[in-house]
Amino acid sequence: MADHKIKLDPGAAALLDALHGAGYAAYAVGGCVRDSLLGLTPHDWDLCTSALPQQVLDRFGKEQCIPTGLQHGTVTVKYGGKLYETTTFRTEGSYSDGRHPDSVAFVPDVKEDLARRDFTINAMAYSAEEGLIDPFGGQKDLARGLVRAVGVPHQRFTEDALRILRLYRFAARFGFEIDPATGQAARELCAHLDCVSIERITEELTRLLAAPKPGTWMEPAVFAVVLPELFTPENAPRFEAARAIIDTLPEGLPEVSARLAALLLPLGEQGTRKALKQLRCSNALIEEVTTLVREAGLVPEEKTAARAIQARRLLGRLEPDPLRRLLALCAAHRPEQAAAFAALQTAAGRLQAENACCRVGQLAVNGRDLMALGAKPGPGLRGQLEALLEAVITGQLPNERKALLAAVKIELDP
Ligand code: ATP
Ligand code: MG
Repeated sequence: MADHKIKLDPGAAALLDALHGAGYAAYAVGGCVRDSLLGLTPHDWDLCTSALPQQVLDRFGKEQCIPTGLQHGTVTVKYGGKLYETTTFRTEGSYSDGRHPDSVAFVPDVKEDLARRDFTINAMAYSAEEGLIDPFGGQKDLARGLVRAVGVPHQRFTEDALRILRLYRFAARFGFEIDPATGQAARELCAHLDCVSIERITEELTRLLAAPKPGTWMEPAVFAVVLPELFTPENAPRFEAARAIIDTLPEGLPEVSARLAALLLPLGEQGTRKALKQLRCSNALIEEVTTLVREAGLVPEEKTAARAIQARRLLGRLEPDPLRRLLALCAAHRPEQAAAFAALQTAAGRLQAENACCRVGQLAVNGRDLMALGAKPGPGLRGQLEALLEAVITGQLPNERKALLAAVKIELDP
């Protein structure tokens, strides 16, 4: 990595040029530099500069800028349809609460700004003119696959305990090792996580769980602080099993519900809901995870015909993606039945491709059709539709208007 030329995103390059042209120092910084050096495509480009927030606003004009956090030095600059967080070089004063600096001070030197950042791999800056600015050996740590705190780990985690979760999140994301001194400080100080806002914890926790194989980095001491209910004497042994199971489930944020369900399964449906509410997860996530926990005991049918009916009932209750996650979760928990769950998934896929009728709304008749035949509106009507659905699902009736209406007429007539 001797010649570490980074290919700047065109917008970042243009903004850096503009700041340089106005006489300021300016660099791409943090995650985008790290990801570029790893050969990954950064998802956003953060910039840092010696220009004060007001000077950034003056240089790019009000229309181009969003004053994201002026006191902290951050202006978001719009360029070419993208957003660039542009933050003035700063140091942070003391942390008396374990989460926010008591003050921030703007400084002229990028190295001072890099010193306040959490890990060496996140504490590098880059500009085309000066190349890589790497005062803490971030490049070497990237090459070794190591996450290491900038400065004295104990002090850095005491300042901001959220960094403890970030440590495991970055290690898991890249499959890196944790520097021993940094890991020791993290385990020693994880009780301090209780002073971090729950939203920030949940954000880091979900990102940790979304990593490729997070099991190794799911430090029990950390989870015992964040989700103590998982560590009652009866639940604690299941945490180890959950770590292994989670690694076999698909990665990525959209898939994280299955991994959360695997983790929270010992709590049952009510306990899961309560834990996720305490973590202030979105309602959509809470609903999906509790559904997965509720359904996780699913017993797969072995015979083809029964399996097709089971798949149809499942598609009636669950959307295709959550159903796929449920079947993956069941297979991970009961590998001896993995083939049966895979067959169930195949059956569900086929039904979906055929647009087979699995819900009342997919019947070839609706409530209005039944009322035209003399059915009374109300719960009875719904019951009749459900009876028709049941007959279609079990193959007693085809999902055809004529056949369904005839069957209803017989019921209404006598
Ligand atoms: P990602 O790709 O996950 O967004 P990132 O490195 O950009 O990774 P962010 O959380 O977006 O991570 O933070 C941007 C940068 O700000 C980090 O690279 C790091 O330098 C710094 N940083 C963020 N949070 C902290 C923190 N709690 N303490 C110290 N530095 C931090
Ligand atoms: Mg980022």
